[in-house]
Amino acid sequence: MKNVKNRSGNLHLWQSRNFSKDSECLSNQAATHLNNIAQISAEVADHGISANFASYILEKEKNDYARIIDGMLHLGSCFKSAKEQLALNQKKKIQLSSPQGPSSKKSLGSRPRNPCFSKFVPPSTKDKDLPSSSMATKRTASNENRTNDNEVDPKLKGIEPQLIELVLSEIMDHGPPIEWEDIAGLEFAKATIKEIVIWPMLRPDIFTGLRGPPKGILLFGPPGTGKTLIGKCIANQSGATFFSISASSLTSKWIGQAEKMVRALFAVASLHQPAVIFIDEIDSLLCQRSDSEHESSRRIKTEFFVQLDGATTSAEDRILVVGATNRPHEIDEAARRRLVKRLYIPLPDDGAREQIITKLMEQQPCEMLKSDILSVVKRTDGYSGADVANLCKDAALGPIRSLQSVDISRISKDDVRAINVQDFEKSLQRVKASVSAKDLALYEEWNNIFGCGTLQLF
Ligand code: ADP
Repeated sequence: MKNVKNRSGNLHLWQSRNFSKDSECLSNQAATHLNNIAQISAEVADHGISANFASYILEKEKNDYARIIDGMLHLGSCFKSAKEQLALNQKKKIQLSSPQGPSSKKSLGSRPRNPCFSKFVPPSTKDKDLPSSSMATKRTASNENRTNDNEVDPKLKGIEPQLIELVLSEIMDHGPPIEWEDIAGLEFAKATIKEIVIWPMLRPDIFTGLRGPPKGILLFGPPGTGKTLIGKCIANQSGATFFSISASSLTSKWIGQAEKMVRALFAVASLHQPAVIFIDEIDSLLCQRSDSEHESSRRIKTEFFVQLDGATTSAEDRILVVGATNRPHEIDEAARRRLVKRLYIPLPDDGAREQIITKLMEQQPCEMLKSDILSVVKRTDGYSGADVANLCKDAALGPIRSLQSVDISRISKDDVRAINVQDFEKSLQRVKASVSAKDLALYEEWNNIFGCGTLQLF
């Protein structure tokens, strides 16, 4: 018995030396990012930085924060398996050394919780520090769910509260809601989505039977063409709760937790109906089966299908799964079948690029004529929407770069000149198209075989 206690004590010591330190460090990092987010919001309120720039850095802060939360979860799961291992060892030891197992078990059960584990701070509890209204929305969602959790909703039975919190922290409510006008071009995709998804979600009483909405759609095409924007817009237009998750984070960061995460995700979504579950890089979750496939990824895939089929069998459930991928040809046939509507989201055409540039330039002092913008449009043929946005961001720094030796911390805002076409000329040398012609040919080929078509093909 003494040995068991010693070993337990040693493990605690070892854990506090290793995990607690890491956990504390992660907590501090998370707090820093939350603080940064609060500062960015304050800057926007004071007009210190543009909304566009703010949304860019907020996105980065959000991603860094998410990574830290993942790290915390990983620490938690490491500790949990160590704890389980310890309990197993102790059980074996007790069986060998003492016939009075049950009383020994009782003393083990009353061990205090390890501080490392209690340091895991679910993101939603930290949200109260944030001033942004979007975070307030998230807090409401979390509390709502907690109430449900307290009532032990049958849908959440058997799901770890930590995972529920984590899923809630994935609810995408950052920044302003996306409207159709925010998405340049893509008229065919927008019209199709309105018809097959938005109207049925808004009027489930009319869209029944044959007119029933698909439960899964796939948006495929080059990176940076607006797939995520469309996912957000679907949720906003249909009044749905938007869950956004990157499949690669499921398979890489949450190994061991991924199946449970998938289950938790669908369970929470079913409590927040209508819901849109947006799965970015869905190919990494639903890639084609192979002999070399790892057992764990096979299990995640199976769990995903079980959940997707479960969510799609009930006519009342209003959960839409939107998968997005840059590699449609890598998707499993079974997944392809389930994601019944497959929409090609192509590179922006001239009109769409003009819209993106015009809209972004409206947010800053800009002295470009329409003809200047059209010349930039011409020269950005083959750029994705994200490439065009990056080009505009780079050009927007032109006036700052031209200040050269001036002390930036002292100048007045009025001293910064308007953006002009020469800034774009220089930026065009730096920011190039990120999608190759070869890749485009592959998307178009896949679209011809499996897609629902695009406006460009008509
Ligand atoms: P994807 O999900 O296809 O990789 P996103 O939807 O995340 O791409 O778009 C990335 C960024 O590129 C957006 O935040 C936006 O600035 C810009 N963008 C891409 N496509 C469009 C579009 N059609 N209209 C407006 N902006 C776009």
